Amino acid sequence: MRLVYTETIQDLLAKSVIQDDLESRDCNRMVPAEKTRVESVELVLPPHANHQGNTFGGQIMAWMENVATIAASRLCQGHPTLKTIEMFHFRGPSQVGDRLVLKAIVNNAFKNSMEVGVCVEAYRQEMESCRRHLNSAFMTFVVLDGDDQPITLPWIQPQGKEGERRYREASARKKMRLDRKYIVSCKQAEVPLSVPWDPSNQVYLSYNNVSSLKMLMAKDTWVLTSEINKIKLYTLEDDKFLSFHMEMTVYTDTAQAFLLLSDLGRRPEWDKHYQSVELVQQVDEDDAIYHVVSPALGEAQCKPQDFVILASRRKPCDSGHSPGLGPREPYVIALRSVTLPTHPKTPEYTRGETLCSGFCLWREGDQQTKVSYYNQATTSFLNYVTTNVAGLSSEFITTFKACEQFLLDNKSELALSLQNL
Ligand code: ADP
Repeated sequence: MRLVYTETIQDLLAKSVIQDDLESRDCNRMVPAEKTRVESVELVLPPHANHQGNTFGGQIMAWMENVATIAASRLCQGHPTLKTIEMFHFRGPSQVGDRLVLKAIVNNAFKNSMEVGVCVEAYRQEMESCRRHLNSAFMTFVVLDGDDQPITLPWIQPQGKEGERRYREASARKKMRLDRKYIVSCKQAEVPLSVPWDPSNQVYLSYNNVSSLKMLMAKDTWVLTSEINKIKLYTLEDDKFLSFHMEMTVYTDTAQAFLLLSDLGRRPEWDKHYQSVELVQQVDEDDAIYHVVSPALGEAQCKPQDFVILASRRKPCDSGHSPGLGPREPYVIALRSVTLPTHPKTPEYTRGETLCSGFCLWREGDQQTKVSYYNQATTSFLNYVTTNVAGLSSEFITTFKACEQFLLDNKSELALSLQNL
C-alpha cells in the first residue's frame, strides 16, 4: 500500500466526486488554513547526529512533531494529542551543520480529528537557496476534553489551489487508513457471516437478528463524522468492524414509516442498491426472508451481487401512546444474511452478505420520526463505505434523501393498516 501510495491517491481523487460541502458549513466555525501555518528552523548540532555526522531520524521526527503540534493547536486553541502518523518517508540524509526548515499546516479538519502535514528541507548556511527535501509526513491529531473524549473541531477553509489539493488528499488518506485497518486486520474472515436458516432455529435467529442491531445501536463509542443537509453520519470503529449509521428526522408518522421501510419489496423505489427483491418466505407476521439483487458496486466488481436476507421487524414493547413522551424503545427493522438450500450461490451473481444492518425509528412528536439506518460494513463493501465516510462520495446522503422523499410521498397511503400498530 505504501509503494503504490501516489497512484492510489491520484486514482481516488480522479474517480471520486468531491463532496462540495464547504458552503453548507457554519462560517463562524471556519478557520482559514493560513492561520495554522508554522515554519521553524533547526540547526543540526553534534548531539543530534551519529558518529558519522548524520542526523538521527528520531531527532528529525521529534522536531516535526513539535511544529505539527503548534499548527494543530492554532486550529483548536487547545492541547492537541497526536493519534497517528502517516507516510513518514526519509528521502535523504542530513548532516551536522545543516539548517532544517520545518513547515507545517493543517490540511483538513474532520469532525473531531485533523490532519497536519509537515515538510522538512535542509540547506547549508552558505547555500540557502539550494534546499533538499528531506522528509514529509502527515499526522492526525485529536483534542481531548476533561473526560478524554475528542472534542468537535472547527472546519478548515483551504486556501489556494495547493491548499485545496492537500485538503482533498487528506480525505483520501483518511479513507486509505480506514481501509487498511479493516482489510489488514482480516478478523472478519474468522466470523461466519451468514447462518443457515431452518424452521428449528427460526425463533432464535430472529431474536438474534433484532438484538444484534439493538446492541450495535446502543454502543457508546459512535462518533459523529459529518452532517450534511440535516443528515448526520456516524461511524464506529471497533477492533473487528467499521460500522456506520445515518440519522435524519422525517415529518411522518412513525408507525407509517415502520410499515413502509419494513416491506423490503418497496426498497427499490428509493434505494438503487436494491435492483430487485423477491419474497422467498414469509416466516411469520414480522419475519420474512428475501432474495435481493444488487448492481455491481463500481469497477472493482464486475458481477451483480445477490443477498439472502432475513428481515425481522419489531414494534416497541411500550406502545408509545403515552401522551407527550415518545417511547424510549425504537421500532426496529433488522436485516441479516442467512443461507437457504433453495437459494444457493449461482455463477451469475457474487454472493453478498450483511452481518447486521437495518433501521431504528423513534417517535419524536406527533408527526415526526427520527429514522436511523445502521450497517456493520463487511469486507465486500468496505471500500464503498470508507469512500463515503471520508467525504470522497456523497452517495450515502443521496440515498438517504431519497428514503426521506419516499416516506413523505407515501405518508398517507397506509392509514388503514396503522390502526393495528
Ligand atoms: P504535498 O504538498 O503533496 O502534501 P509536500 O511534501 O510538499 O507534499 O508537503 C507535505 C506537507 O507539508 C503538506 O501536505 C503541507 O501540510 C506541509 N507543507 C508543505 N509546504 C508547506 C509550507 N510552505 N508551509 C506550511 N506547510 C507546508
